[in-house]
Amino acid sequence: MISQERKQVVDGAQRVVIKVGSSVLTSKHGVDLGIINRLCDEISMLREQGRQVVIVSSGAIASGIRKIGLSEIPKTIPQKQAAAAVGQGSLIRAYEEAFRHYDLKVAQILLTSEDLTNRRRYLNARHTLQTLLDWGIIPVVNENDTVVVEEIKFGDNDNLSALIAQLTEADLLIALTDIDGLYDSDPRESQDASIITVIRRIDREVEGFAGDQPGVTGTGGMVSKLLAAKKVTSAGVPMIIANGRSRYILKQIFDGEEVGTLFVSGERRLSSKKQWIAHTLKPQGEILLDEGAAVALKLRGKSLLSTGIIAVRGKFEDGAPVRCLGNNEEEIGIGLVNYSAEEIEKIKGVRSHKIEEILGYKHSDEVIHRDNFVLSETVAAEGESQGT
Ligand code: GLU
Repeated sequence: MISQERKQVVDGAQRVVIKVGSSVLTSKHGVDLGIINRLCDEISMLREQGRQVVIVSSGAIASGIRKIGLSEIPKTIPQKQAAAAVGQGSLIRAYEEAFRHYDLKVAQILLTSEDLTNRRRYLNARHTLQTLLDWGIIPVVNENDTVVVEEIKFGDNDNLSALIAQLTEADLLIALTDIDGLYDSDPRESQDASIITVIRRIDREVEGFAGDQPGVTGTGGMVSKLLAAKKVTSAGVPMIIANGRSRYILKQIFDGEEVGTLFVSGERRLSSKKQWIAHTLKPQGEILLDEGAAVALKLRGKSLLSTGIIAVRGKFEDGAPVRCLGNNEEEIGIGLVNYSAEEIEKIKGVRSHKIEEILGYKHSDEVIHRDNFVLSETVAAEGESQGT
């Protein structure tokens, strides 16, 4: 069935990120070339319609495991990393071969979360992706599994695809998996289980549905897809979860058919830099504010000065993202500091003109500049404005 709401979302989608999970791409013989050929055929149609496409593709580890001939998923990180190194080549070659029939070129982009949390590298990645898209090339992104360590992993490609959708300022994120969408109850247990075709707000009830979904073979599962949906919809990007093994799925989506689950997006309220601070960075410490500073940040949109700081927790360098806490540990927001934890320890509670006297230098009057600060309330309100 064609829905007007779906049509509106897809007709306006000029730049699309398509995430393809391992469960879609790999069969017991390794990378499933049939599926890749079919998806690339559908993606080439999107290109013909003048849309730009970024693919976020899993499947390196699964493909490596099969290629090496391992009988089970390796347990240790070095083994997984080695398997990814073997499999990533086959994966990208499969895309390259498939798109060659349509005279389309692909580019391999392997990222670690450090590439996106460092502002300069983030901007670099953005410029490269932009250039590839301008040239009509299809970037195929995956996590750089071979070099990441657990602490700095994106977690899964659902999260990576959400970050890529924000980074590229995409109009739509499509997550292709091996089930038809988000069900309202476990389809293995209830015959009445049905797909929720549209979600306007990801609340507790919706989160409850995700917990009940059948296990998928990829890393993420439905819970991590919901986290990705939360991230992108609050940044103004709608998301569709659909079954990548189902024939003509992309065609159906772009015809406006009600397949899979659509997550309607909220308005984009934050600047792209503030989106990055709120959604990409992981806070590295905490700063406790006095009442005056809390009010200045919360109600007056001011910068944070040293005089309003009561305490600092954690070890971090200047430029790091930190959480600002008010009374009763209430989180007021997240900002990038101009001073390290050690320096803040020395200048907390003193006026800005004393900073130089204490440290022997002064990077700036503000500990956190308002342009580098995001109020938690604004982030929450973005999420809540979904569908309004
Ligand atoms: N990067 C992993 C791979 O290519 C997949 C991670 C995921 O599916 O979330 O095998």
